[in-house]
Amino acid sequence: MVKSCCATDCTNRYSKKSELSFYRLPKNKERRIKWITAMRRNNWNPGSETWICGFHFVSGKKSDDPLHPDYVPSIFSFTSTADQNLAVNNLEKYLRSQEVCKKRHVRARAVEVQDTEVQTEETHNDISSLHEQIKSLNTECQSLREKVHKLESELNTTALVLITMIVKRCFTKTDAVINT
Ligand SMILES: [Zn+2]
Repeated sequence: MVKSCCATDCTNRYSKKSELSFYRLPKNKERRIKWITAMRRNNWNPGSETWICGFHFVSGKKSDDPLHPDYVPSIFSFTSTADQNLAVNNLEKYLRSQEVCKKRHVRARAVEVQDTEVQTEETHNDISSLHEQIKSLNTECQSLREKVHKLESELNTTALVLITMIVKRCFTKTDAVINT
């Protein structure tokens, strides 16, 4: 079956050699109604093999972005020059907004990357400060161990002295008992 354009006064037919695109009417009800309304054909009930050519879209191709002016065809034989110019302006506006979005996106990405870098730096700082803390804790621990050793040996000496004193006293008492 030959694909021919269903738009009023359009005689375009599909050809492999031509770069002109042909589209079926959308299945989505809401969008389909918008297309049919835009085509202004009276008492018309398009079937599944109804095609429209790219000529009726400002950019020459349909767009599936609802914000794009070519979401719905807008260029027909009955479209006034003013409306055609308006459509072209809308397309330019859309493309500019896309450009701004893209730039914003790139900027947002750049900020994200910066944030990650700052975080990494902070983490590095955290790690080095933790290392410092560990070092100082190790030193403290070492000095405490030395103190404990010193106290232990002091205690041993004191205990030895006490035991010696007690034993001596015992002997003295025993001697005293024997002597009496
Ligand atoms: Zn056409």
